[in-house]
Amino acid sequence: MQRLCRAATLIEAHMLRDLLAHAGIDALVLNENANGALGEVPFTSAWPEVWLRDRADAAAADVIVRAARHDPGPAERPCMGCGAANPIAFELCWSCGAATGA
Ligand SMILES: [Zn+2]
Repeated sequence: MQRLCRAATLIEAHMLRDLLAHAGIDALVLNENANGALGEVPFTSAWPEVWLRDRADAAAADVIVRAARHDPGPAERPCMGCGAANPIAFELCWSCGAATGA
């Protein structure tokens, strides 16, 4: 397990987890219920966190998170070769290696 990032909202945390899942990366959201502790702990400690089950996914996951945060538009597009959803930042499909048409 490795912490990938904090998210300001649960919605963002789940969006990131779903993006990672589409890329075949197993991630989970922790601190989902920590908002109840606001006021008792530093507020950033109560933010939801996205964790990776496998730290080997960290580099690919980081690319996905940065792409998602810099571009509020479509975060992914389907591969022309195999149809797998790829983060916009990917020039090659994570699944089959084909160019994604950037
Ligand atoms: Zn593909």
